[in-house]
Amino acid sequence: MESLSSKPFSLAIVGGGITGLTLSISLAKHNIRHAIYESAAQFGEIGAGVGFEPNFVRTMELIDPAIKAAFLRHAELTDNTKPSWFTVRVGDMRKADSNGVVARKNGKEVKIGEKLFQWPARIGPRGGIHRAHLLDELVKLIPPHIPKFNKRLVDITEAGGGSRDVVLYFADGTTARHSAAIGCDGIKSRTREIVLGKEEARPVFSGKYAYRGLIPMEKAVEIVGEEESRSPQMYIGYHGHVLTFPISKGSIMNVVAFSSQESWTDPQWVIQSSRERMDSDYSSWSPTVRAIISAMQKPDIWALFNHTPARTYFQSRPRICLAGDAAHASTPHQGAGAGMGVEDCYILGELLAAISRSEDLDKTFRVYNEVRRPRSLKLVETSREGAMLYEFESSEKDDLEAIEKTCVKRMDWIWDHSIKADLERALGILNQSIRSEQPSL
Ligand SMILES: Cc1cc2nc3c(=O)[nH]c(=O)nc-3n(C[C@H](O)[C@H](O)[C@H](O)COP(=O)(O)OP(=O)(O)OC[C@H]3O[C@@H](n4cnc5c(N)ncnc54)[C@H](O)[C@@H]3O)c2cc1C
Repeated sequence: MESLSSKPFSLAIVGGGITGLTLSISLAKHNIRHAIYESAAQFGEIGAGVGFEPNFVRTMELIDPAIKAAFLRHAELTDNTKPSWFTVRVGDMRKADSNGVVARKNGKEVKIGEKLFQWPARIGPRGGIHRAHLLDELVKLIPPHIPKFNKRLVDITEAGGGSRDVVLYFADGTTARHSAAIGCDGIKSRTREIVLGKEEARPVFSGKYAYRGLIPMEKAVEIVGEEESRSPQMYIGYHGHVLTFPISKGSIMNVVAFSSQESWTDPQWVIQSSRERMDSDYSSWSPTVRAIISAMQKPDIWALFNHTPARTYFQSRPRICLAGDAAHASTPHQGAGAGMGVEDCYILGELLAAISRSEDLDKTFRVYNEVRRPRSLKLVETSREGAMLYEFESSEKDDLEAIEKTCVKRMDWIWDHSIKADLERALGILNQSIRSEQPSL
């Protein structure tokens, strides 16, 4: 049964990942009629952990306190008195001298694997969560009639007859009609292709790939000790870096080990590799890093792609708006891709709640586009630069002092941002636009 709607329009969310589900929760809260069309037979996340910093957890709460509560139920919350994003250590033996020394700080020698610097995070609820746990919790907050499964979107057209409605066509031959479609269908988004054209929508290889794995905490403690297994660590080096952080209430250590290659030709982005290749990628790294790598069970390689900057997140005919990875898929080097999707949902949900006529949908999406594009596109660009910095490929090269100086400041714009101020600005523009009744594009 459809819930009573406070609005004379209905929306199609294409894709039920973190963004699609979060948007659905926001729309449901505002009594906005909608459905989620998901290509898979059920909701599900592949991959391992995902981290959220306090600004993103606060945004979850602004959308619905139940999302924050769900996150807190499963996240491994890290020390909140002096929070650290990562403890940074040099993991690559090639940076050490014959005595294993990589730097001298305050008259002391810093050896390979020892703490180089602490990358301070912000105080507040933050931490890592297993993707599957987060998704399961989000699903619980969605009324059961909203999701439609096995609905792979293939095309969207305008319904005609002057209604401006959109018709969604699915691979199973069925169709659905709504006032607008919101594409939350991830990096390989079909909605993005419809808005931008195939060429502009195409993701590009970032030059980096990752091995991802989970190590039971007892085993991780055996390998790297209490301190390094139970708090987030970043081991840096030439053309690679390795991240570890606890998830699932500290019962698992999540590992993402990055490496580089110039191009990616395989049509698959996740390929089976071999233990030999994985070991060889880190053969010049420290015993600790090599031990972490050998404890990873599956040597699958994940190619890391990102989007080039989209000229728009919105088109008016047929009416489609993009959110999350479909709009701005980023590499994961600032741990903020999903967080940016959550921010999209907050702004979009609140703007949609503020209008009461279908005629204002175009204006709403246009304002969302104006407010969200600069920040989310900046993430894509700076994330790529982040990997280069951690992997001695930026202008700082392998100057550890310069790297530290740049690192500790470069996340301020993400973590100290006021999303509430963005919303106020967006609502201001929207109200003015509605008052002056600007013609649609
Ligand atoms: C290694 C790695 C580590 C990361 N770590 C972090 C982190 O710590 N913190 C963080 O904030 N972010 C992180 N990210 C980024 C984050 O994972 C993504 O930004 C986020 O999951 C994107 O969510 P989404 O819902 O927008 O897209 P997706 O998760 O890709 O969901 C898209 C959904 O749409 C469905 N779909 C696709 N095509 C169609 C279609 N044609 N029709 C219908 N349905 C369709 C899919 O089945 C899927 O369910 C990381 C990414 C990677 C690769």
